[in-house]
Amino acid sequence: MGKKKRVGIMGGTFDPIHFGHLVTAEEARINFQLDKVVFVPTGNPPHKKDYKVTDAEHRYLMTALATNSNPYFEVSRVEIEREGYSYTVDTLRQLIEFYGPDTSLFFISGADAVLDILTWKNIKDVLDICTFIAATRPGYPVAQLKSKLAEIKKLYGKDVYLLEVTAMAISSTEIRKRIREGRSIKYLIPESVEAYILKNGLYR
Ligand code: ATP
Ligand code: MG
Repeated sequence: MGKKKRVGIMGGTFDPIHFGHLVTAEEARINFQLDKVVFVPTGNPPHKKDYKVTDAEHRYLMTALATNSNPYFEVSRVEIEREGYSYTVDTLRQLIEFYGPDTSLFFISGADAVLDILTWKNIKDVLDICTFIAATRPGYPVAQLKSKLAEIKKLYGKDVYLLEVTAMAISSTEIRKRIREGRSIKYLIPESVEAYILKNGLYR
């Protein structure tokens, strides 16, 4: 019997993808000896009704462009191709079915997402299917994150791993705002993504 394959899953809206996402995925890959990291852009996310999310095909292509230079990164269309809202639990079930029992899944999530994890659909199943990696993110105190991890442990008996990521105070919201205001987004996102945004007139 061979060693189990270790696959990281990085979910997100990626509207657009930026260096905060990429550095988090890369540091998770190295720290947890992952064989690869699969980026999963959302189709129609349930928690984002406050602004109009960019068409999934644009977000998918920007994610593909941004991850292209890393041989360990891949992009999945599972959520994009599913009708209606996608929940993490459904995506993880589909992925574990796809990869089979010789694969361990690691779900990589930033601090903001981890802090509201208890509101997720079937969180117990999510924690059963994968190993959860909670990444630090500027603006979200590590102490608060740690106490959330302790709460999860108490409620579900599961360890969630804390990953201290090189701090990148970048958000997609900030990138969209800068573009709207005609400000520079250089050195915050990959050049290939910047070119794609310009060419397609996104976020104006
Ligand atoms: P938005 O501002 O539109 O919410 P975002 O920058 O938060 O965008 P998402 O696509 O919502 O990006 O995030 C996908 C995942 O990446 C989430 O788990 C989020 O916590 C994590 N993440 C995003 N930006 C960072 C960052 N700068 N550092 C660490 N993790 C991050
Ligand atoms: Mg976000």
